[in-house]
Parts: sequence; structure tokens; C-alpha cells
Amino acid sequence: MTLNSQTGTRDVDRLIRGLVAEIGADSVVDAAQDLSRYFRDWTGDYVGTALAVIRPATVDAVCKAVRYCAQEGVPIIPQGGNTGLVGGAIDKTGRCVILSLERLNQIRSIDPINLSAIVDAGCVLQTLKAAVAEQNCHFAVSLGAEGSAHIGGIIATNAGGTNVVKFGMTRANIMGLEVVLPDGRLWSNLLELRKDNRGPDLGQIFVGSEGIYGIITGACLKLSPALKTVETAYVGCSSFKDAMQLLNMLRAQCHEFLSGFEIISNKCLPFARLAYPDLRMPVDQSIAVHVLIELSCVAQLPLRDNLEAFLAEALEGEMIEDAVIAQNQAQAGSFWKIREGLVEGYAINGYHVRSDVSVKLSVIPNLIEQLEAMLHQDFPHWTPQTYGHAGDGNVHFIAVPPKGIDTQKTYETGRDIEAAIFRIVDDLEGSFSAEHGIGRTKRDRFCKTSDPVRVALLTAIKQTIDPAGLLNPDCLIRYEEQTCPKASVVLAETLRDI
Ligand SMILES: Cc1cc2nc3c(=O)[nH]c(=O)nc-3n(C[C@H](O)[C@H](O)[C@H](O)COP(=O)(O)OP(=O)(O)OC[C@H]3O[C@@H](n4cnc5c(N)ncnc54)[C@H](O)[C@@H]3O)c2cc1C
Repeated sequence: MTLNSQTGTRDVDRLIRGLVAEIGADSVVDAAQDLSRYFRDWTGDYVGTALAVIRPATVDAVCKAVRYCAQEGVPIIPQGGNTGLVGGAIDKTGRCVILSLERLNQIRSIDPINLSAIVDAGCVLQTLKAAVAEQNCHFAVSLGAEGSAHIGGIIATNAGGTNVVKFGMTRANIMGLEVVLPDGRLWSNLLELRKDNRGPDLGQIFVGSEGIYGIITGACLKLSPALKTVETAYVGCSSFKDAMQLLNMLRAQCHEFLSGFEIISNKCLPFARLAYPDLRMPVDQSIAVHVLIELSCVAQLPLRDNLEAFLAEALEGEMIEDAVIAQNQAQAGSFWKIREGLVEGYAINGYHVRSDVSVKLSVIPNLIEQLEAMLHQDFPHWTPQTYGHAGDGNVHFIAVPPKGIDTQKTYETGRDIEAAIFRIVDDLEGSFSAEHGIGRTKRDRFCKTSDPVRVALLTAIKQTIDPAGLLNPDCLIRYEEQTCPKASVVLAETLRDI
């Protein structure tokens, strides 16, 4: 894959020479190198190009590169581990510079007494988790892509994952941020304070902003003491309704210990096997709904006894069909592999309609029933696949197309299915993006269906921080459109007064 030189080879050469002069040749990826990993997202669904790819290794170099690009009027796309699922870090127009944070990857400090860590944005989530574990601490954000996703990426997307039910989304695990603004200025708020109520928390503007307001270069993260007791169970239920009743019951008995509650339809299991062929199912594969339960706590408590008693009661009451409690960490890991294999399995299988929706907990069985009935009735050749972080009301409904039909037609049908999914979610007053964000894939729907005041406020913040629209253009909102200028002017004036 090559850099985009449509702008004119001479212009691109000049830009690259300028960037080399600002941040050094080792921070500008040589066009002769393999650039495909910067131009293609994890799924392979989004493939783009760029004028240049830069990899600054210091915060100062990020500031210099951003300032230079701002002077030249060249847009920048911040890129982390490239595992986002909504095309936020990939641009097809080829008019941008990709700024990868991968070399800004140091852990600056870990404070086990304050329960905080300060890290570079390019630090890989798994690396950070392992480092804090060595100091008997725990960073709570956990997701299947943690071996590649960056701290900056999970903050920019406000990622969720498997432990939201106990620890909240990424937003809840941040104390402060360090951000390079679109003109190259640095705003740093890395004070390790658990309380700081001096006005609004400006850092929150950047959490979930998908790189459109600033480039996160560092973060102060909230830690908790290491979890000494973790118990995992793999359970079989005959329906999603039973699975959600099980959640109710579990909450009533162990709410403060519940750290994971995942549902998987048994139709999904062959896809997990595509990613990990040796997977062994803890319960009979013919049981309709598989549930992963995790209880955890910092103290050494007999949670296994609680879990055993709870599952025995559920079995007796015929709320579940079977259950296995992991005997050790390795077995618990093998249970989680089934869940983690799904995203990968669908990617290996090829094109599919992916969704990431949420509704109130009580509505989940109704949501799944409607989604599956819709596919069955209107698109009978497609296979419904349902799994998700049900403890947070989050469902990933996947539709897999039949093999071997005309691709163009498949994509068109896929769009119809997506529209039908959104209609059902809207009717149930849910969200069409529970945790993956908006990116470029869901931008038009987001702008069209959101409260206009909300879009106007987001646009107004953009106008104030990035008037030239140089950071991650066309991601999340279409800045040029300014759908509600009145509200944007009002907010811009308010912010200027501050
Ligand atoms: C196998 C798999 C499992 C996943 N599971 C989950 C899950 O359970 N829950 C969940 O919420 N998500 C999940 N995801 C998607 C999730 O959003 C990403 O894994 C992660 O949050 C993005 O991090 P990243 O470093 O890869 O960012 P990228 O993909 O590189 O970027 C994502 C967005 O953030 C912006 N960005 C990246 N870094 C910065 C920065 N430093 N400053 C400003 N903007 C930046 C980009 O411009 C882009 O808009 C999964 C993905 C995969 C592939």
C-alpha cells in the first residue's frame, strides 16, 4: 500500500520534508515501508490511505507535528491500535496525515497508594494492566482487543467491555488527561486528584470524542486494588428471558461482586470456533443460551460458595439447564475465549451486518425476540446471531449472509437489515451505539436522528476548539454542515467568555 500522492507528488514531498524537519526522519514512516497496518482497520472492513504517516515518540513532537500541519492546513487523523469498529481511524479521501501514537507508549508512573497511574496514550491496554498488576493494582477496562487497543484509543472511544457492570465505561476510570489541541497547544490536567471540583471537568469533552477535538497524549487512570477473588461460571439457559431473570436474581444476591454477565446464543458458537478451533464447550452446545458470569472482589471471600449456592438454587428452580464453575484461572480463561472468539470469528467468516445496541435491562428479551423475528420473516436466508454484555443492557446482533450470493446485492440487503435493526431499537427507546462509538460508519445516522441541539452543541465545541476542522474530519459529525448554527453560536460565545 502506498501513500496518496493525488495532491501532487511535489506537495506531498514538501509536506514530508517539513514533517521530517519538525520531528525527525525516524518519526515519519518511510513510503517504502509496509503501510497497510495504518490504512486498514482490524476487521479489514475499512481501507483508506493518507498523505503521510507519522509516529512521534514524544509529546513535544506531537505538538510540533500538529502545529506544522495546522500551518499547512493539512488534516490529521489520530490513530491508536486501529481496533475501533466504526471506521474512526481510517480515512478514504487521502487528504490527511495519520498520526499514530504507537511510539508514545511509556508508563510514566504508577502510584499504588493513590491508586492511580499516569501513562502515555500509545500504551497498549494489556501492557498497562500487566504493569499495574505487578504493583498489586487493577485497571478495570477489559475488552477482547486489549492486546492491541491503546489507552488513548479506549479513552477516545469511551470503550466499554466485559467489566462495565461493576466498574463503568472507560469514562468512569479516568482522573485526568493530557491533550494536544488542533493548533498544537498542549492542555495538561494530569493531577492525581480523586477530588477536584474547580468547575466543569473539561477532560470529559475529549472522552468519547473519537479524536475530533484533540489528540490525547497522556492520561491519569483510576486504579483499584488487585482483585484477590475472581470466580467464573459458564451457564446454559433455555431462553434469553431466563438468562435475564438469572441476572435479576444474581443482582439481588451478589450485586456488589458482579463484574461480568455475558449472553451468547448457541448459534454463535461455530463462529467462536472459527477463531479458536480447539474450543471446548463447558455445557452442551444444544442449550439455547450460554451465559458467562464473573464475580470478583478485592478481599479473600468465599465467592465460590456463593456462586455454587446460587447456581444450585437456579438449577432447582429450573431457571438454568446446566452450569460449570471454573476450577482455576486457566479454565476461566477458556470460558472467556468462547466470548472473545466471536468478534474474530465473524471477521474471519467475511461480510456480516454488525450491530452494537442497548436498551433498558428489562427490555432485552423483547429486543432480541423482535430482532430475530425480523430477520427470520423478512430476510429468511440470513442467520441471526445474538450475544453481548447483557449485564449492561448491551446486545450485539449480527446477521450473517448466505454464502455465494451476489456481493452487491448482499451489501444492499445488509443495509436494509441494519435499518430494520435501528427501527426496532428506536421503537424500544434504545441506543444504536452502545459502546463502539460513531466513527464514519454511523455518522450520518447519528447526525440525522440525534436531538438537533445535541449536534449543534458538538458542532459548536468543534468550531471553538478546531475552527478549521483539521482533526479527524468527517468522523462523528460533519463539521461543515453545521446543522444548527444558532445553538453553535450561543455555545461558542459562552465558551469564549470562560
Ligand atoms: C476483538 C475486538 C473486541 C472488541 N471489544 C470491545 C468491547 O468489548 N467493548 C468496546 O467498547 N469496544 C470493543 N472493541 C472496539 C474498541 O472500540 C476498540 O478496541 C478500542 O476502544 C479502540 O482503541 P484503539 O487504540 O484501537 O483506537 P483506534 O481504532 O486506533 O481509534 C479509534 C478512534 O479513536 C481515535 N483515537 C485513537 N487514539 C487517539 C488518541 N490518542 N487521541 C485522540 N483520538 C484517538 C481515532 O481517531 C478513532 O476515531 C473491540 C474491538 C475488537 C477488534
